[in-house]
Amino acid sequence: MSNELIVAKFGGSSMADASAMLRSAKVAKQHKANLVVVSATYGTTNDLLALSSKALDGDWDACLPYIETLRSRHQSIADDLEVESDVRNDMEGLLLEVETLAKGICLLKDCSSKALDSLQSLGERLSSTLFVKAMNSESIKSNVEFLDVRTVLRTDDQFGKAIPQIEEIEKLCLENLKPCLSGEKILVTQGFIGSTEDGLTTTLGRGGSDYSAALLAEGIGADILQIWTDVAGIATTDPRIVPEASLIGEISFQEAAELAAFGAKILHPTTLTPALRKNIKVFVGSSYEADKKGTWIVKDCETMPLIRAMAAKKGQSLLTLSTPKMLHAHGFLYEIFKIFNDHKVSVDSITTSEISVSLTVDDGTLVNKKLIQDLSALATVKIEENLALVSLIGNNINHTPGLASDIFSALGDINVRMICLGASKHNFCVLVSEELANEAIKRLHKNFIN
Ligand code: ADP
Ligand code: ASP
Ligand code: MG
Repeated sequence: MSNELIVAKFGGSSMADASAMLRSAKVAKQHKANLVVVSATYGTTNDLLALSSKALDGDWDACLPYIETLRSRHQSIADDLEVESDVRNDMEGLLLEVETLAKGICLLKDCSSKALDSLQSLGERLSSTLFVKAMNSESIKSNVEFLDVRTVLRTDDQFGKAIPQIEEIEKLCLENLKPCLSGEKILVTQGFIGSTEDGLTTTLGRGGSDYSAALLAEGIGADILQIWTDVAGIATTDPRIVPEASLIGEISFQEAAELAAFGAKILHPTTLTPALRKNIKVFVGSSYEADKKGTWIVKDCETMPLIRAMAAKKGQSLLTLSTPKMLHAHGFLYEIFKIFNDHKVSVDSITTSEISVSLTVDDGTLVNKKLIQDLSALATVKIEENLALVSLIGNNINHTPGLASDIFSALGDINVRMICLGASKHNFCVLVSEELANEAIKRLHKNFIN
């Protein structure tokens, strides 16, 4: 038996129903996971968010179907897994918590980000409660124990997108996760959620279970992080856009990190940061076809192709700030970025000219009217919405003659609103209209990959 310490994460589709859970449990056992991190069952986080918005409207009748859907989804998994009464009681307690939180939001017509995190946490708390049972089932029979991840995954109190406290997490993992470190037990826990020092429940942002698993892998000093999902590894682009996209056997941390940061849903953008810090090898594979080769994300790859993969990040807005004051002046970019910093808004790409600077942010940022007001005090602000960043990911991109011309000729008549090249040798990025993003990917994929 190998002594490697392994963290395995299973996403929502791997938790979709009892048979998906049993299949995932088998994969966790066969692939020798010491710690298993699970997402909410498929669709549950979306349903909890929809529930919160009905509750916020104060419309209790509109909340009931969501509560019913959540209840029946989890009850039917419990029935199929033939869970005992104690697990059923735990599950009922969690479902009651969903109802109580929704009722509170509905009565107050107020949904703070703190309340929303508590509500969303129930997805992972329910799925992990049931998954313990799947791991314990007749056919799998593993020595498994439930772990409330909030005892170890310490974060700050930025509800909705809490920042993990790395040193604390490491300390708490070493103190509390001894049974899995010694290989005596497999621990099953929740992705996505954490807790402040005061015991308040937080979340890491949508898709954050990958990040949780990486943080826990770092915390326990794991050798391998396995991400089990619904595709058999990282492909050259999203197979939903290009079905003939091919699976990548091996990819470097830098390339995979760029791919995740620039929109490839397969990995949460910050997943690789802890793995890179501790040089933990990351594997991505399908819980449905666990025997397929999958993708290894490693420090040094055997091949370093010019273009390895591509991704689209939709829902982008372009802000163009112009002012003659920028001419021959210093400190202007400082002033602008100070405003973004004060509003905790992250900027994806940027380009500047003599009197203007253009930058992209997520569309959702525009609801922050105060941000736009503060920027308008410095410069004229022009906003263009519904754009997408299309990125080509590979190696030596900024030192390859002729590449830009190949990219533009492949794009043909698709208008490029902005380009970003030069900052990274792993990325060439163009900003196009959101409705043409898939077409841009198809054309680039055909030209550069197959
Ligand atoms: P999970 O619920 O397991 O976390 P996600 O839906 O978050 O799964 O991520 C898996 C999905 O990511 C795939 O179904 C696929 O459509 C999408 N995806 C986007 N880009 C890629 C890519 N380059 N390779 C593979 N899958 C990708
Ligand atoms: N359940 C959360 C979400 O849907 C976290 C995750 O699945 O990674 O965003
Ligand atoms: Mg995911």
